[in-house]
Amino acid sequence: MRQVAVENFQEWREKARALVAGSVPPDDVRFTDGLQDSLFADVPMPAAGSRGRISVPRAFLARAEIVSLHRDPKRWDLLYRALFRIVNDGLSNEPDELLAMEQAVGRDIHKMHAFVRFRKIVEDDGQPQYVAWYRPDHHIVKHVAPWFAERFGAMHWAILTPDLSAYWDTKTLRFGDGVPRSAAPQEDELEELWRSYYASIFNPARVNVRAMTREMPVRHWSTMPEATLIPTLVSNARAREQQMRERAPGSAEPFVPVGAELPVLAAAVRACKGCELYACATQPVFGEGPERARLMLVGEQPGDQEDLQGRPFVGPAGQLLDRALQEAGVDRSSVYVTNAVKHFKFEERGKRRIHKKPDGGEVAACRPWLTAEIERVDPQLIVALGATAALSLGGREFAIQKERGRMMPLPGGRQLLITVHPSFLLRVPEAAKAAEFARFVQDLRLAS
Ligand code: SF4
Repeated sequence: MRQVAVENFQEWREKARALVAGSVPPDDVRFTDGLQDSLFADVPMPAAGSRGRISVPRAFLARAEIVSLHRDPKRWDLLYRALFRIVNDGLSNEPDELLAMEQAVGRDIHKMHAFVRFRKIVEDDGQPQYVAWYRPDHHIVKHVAPWFAERFGAMHWAILTPDLSAYWDTKTLRFGDGVPRSAAPQEDELEELWRSYYASIFNPARVNVRAMTREMPVRHWSTMPEATLIPTLVSNARAREQQMRERAPGSAEPFVPVGAELPVLAAAVRACKGCELYACATQPVFGEGPERARLMLVGEQPGDQEDLQGRPFVGPAGQLLDRALQEAGVDRSSVYVTNAVKHFKFEERGKRRIHKKPDGGEVAACRPWLTAEIERVDPQLIVALGATAALSLGGREFAIQKERGRMMPLPGGRQLLITVHPSFLLRVPEAAKAAEFARFVQDLRLAS
């Protein structure tokens, strides 16, 4: 029996390839987690040209990488057995045990996305840091950390877990040793926000305690401030259900945590069901930019690329906006960029998803999110990019071409400037493109 130590998927992949190339049967090899593999050097290497390049379906590798995050030490052996069967017998169906592991890791990843709760601490230099302690079931910290870095890119944060800790300083992701629960701060001002957020998204019409404890396992409750609310919320459910029925339909308002900071809002919007648009989109797309930006740009809604990537203005219109901002001398990283509607509205035509303009009801339903962003960022000037943004911000229909390029007062001493949406510039006839682009740059220059 050969004992082969591996520390991560990449290492398993390289060693498993060598073993398969050497025709070492699964019964003759035992993988271990991170021990010394004194016998690995004995594995016969394939003679040059004896087997040639081993090719494995890409889908298997992707699934194997997920399975490799499972905590069960048997996972490496099971993966090797599956790999050996694929290469030697051409069998691609994976054993049930591997599929169960893949599902368990997938659930664990989903739960970590949903249940990590950052607590705010302030360092000596006044720079706020956010710290979360979490106990995942499997070795998923390195896998999920980039998701948090993207989602909470403007925050300095640390996610501490018993196995491994992840640190983000707004530029670089680093990993360090695991830490005990006692090393994470216990109470802070975010706790109240989370509680009020949870109370607002708690849907009494769907109280199902068994399902709730399955989705939010009791062992995570100690790290979740909102868990203390559950008994009270359940007992008040009937009265709240009645109130919800009486409330006017179609508003994000019950989902918006009052007075919350941007990262909390960005997390809360994921639970919004204020209108029907959440049902078909991949994810909501919240705004991005400095918390105290002086200039805010508001578009209509996320497009296809934004919906997939979860970030505003990253598709073709966003690239055009970047170019126009550059020509206008505006640094995009100093601007807060968002949309009037947070979910992508589209209709499917074959494989394509074609943009559909949100109607007035959807714009109104989503306005509480935009209002919350404006209150938190407190910009001096807001630029409405196109008619939908102008409707949401100005509360009426605007004739964009007639009213663009002049400042209008908004409540709170802010100014509103209306211009076209950059997607308009993509649609104008070729002959008019240069002139329209120049007008757009001129509007942005006025804003800056
Ligand atoms: S579009 Fe706005 S109101 Fe509608 S579900 Fe999405 S976030 Fe909520």
